[in-house]
Amino acid sequence: MSTGIAIPEPVIAQVEGSGDGFPVRRVFCVGRNYADHAREMGGDPDREPPFFFTKWAETVVPSGSVIPYPQGTSDFHFEAELVVAIGKGGRDLTPEQSLGHVHGYAAGLDMTRRDLQREARGAGRPWDTAKNVEKGSPLGVIRPANAAGAMSRGDIRMLVNGEVRQHSDLSCLIWPVADVISFLSRLYRIEPGDLIYTGTPSGVGPVVEGDRLRVEIGDLAPLDVTIGGAAE
Ligand code: MN
Repeated sequence: MSTGIAIPEPVIAQVEGSGDGFPVRRVFCVGRNYADHAREMGGDPDREPPFFFTKWAETVVPSGSVIPYPQGTSDFHFEAELVVAIGKGGRDLTPEQSLGHVHGYAAGLDMTRRDLQREARGAGRPWDTAKNVEKGSPLGVIRPANAAGAMSRGDIRMLVNGEVRQHSDLSCLIWPVADVISFLSRLYRIEPGDLIYTGTPSGVGPVVEGDRLRVEIGDLAPLDVTIGGAAE
């Protein structure tokens, strides 16, 4: 007998030059990976190993989306981030091996209920409800790694209603992409379809209904989303 419950639609991210797209399996995010943002969050930007948190695949939405203002917060923040799309599985990778497992790169947003994150940090509780937010992981079109290059340097910019709010360079990542993948692969077997949001520079801030957000990273496709009204 059927439960009557529909199987969820897979989440497919767009890839330049590919009709098939990129089936999103899991979403990993790195906390505090730019020294200036670590400082603004009250942390120590010394080179402590990167730490990770996770979000549901279904939080990934494409450029052009309207992101409803989520419930449970009055301080919903943008965080512009370079996103790595994994194309090949592996465990215990060295940084030198890691880049061979990358399918491509995209501009992304790690949207955050900052008030819930602050509460969680103060109480020593998990960040899940602060970070794992419905439609909270917008993702631009993925550029294949062979076209994008190493992404070890290049401008990363966050614009809100056309005004620059975050501006840094990928060379300012405390842990570059190869190291991030290497560390993650020592905790999990990375799999094709995994996305890694690599952290945000300083300048994070709140959004309100009607705000137009744009993330520009090097010559990757820009990511554009709009903040909508209260989530239904
Ligand atoms: Mn982040």
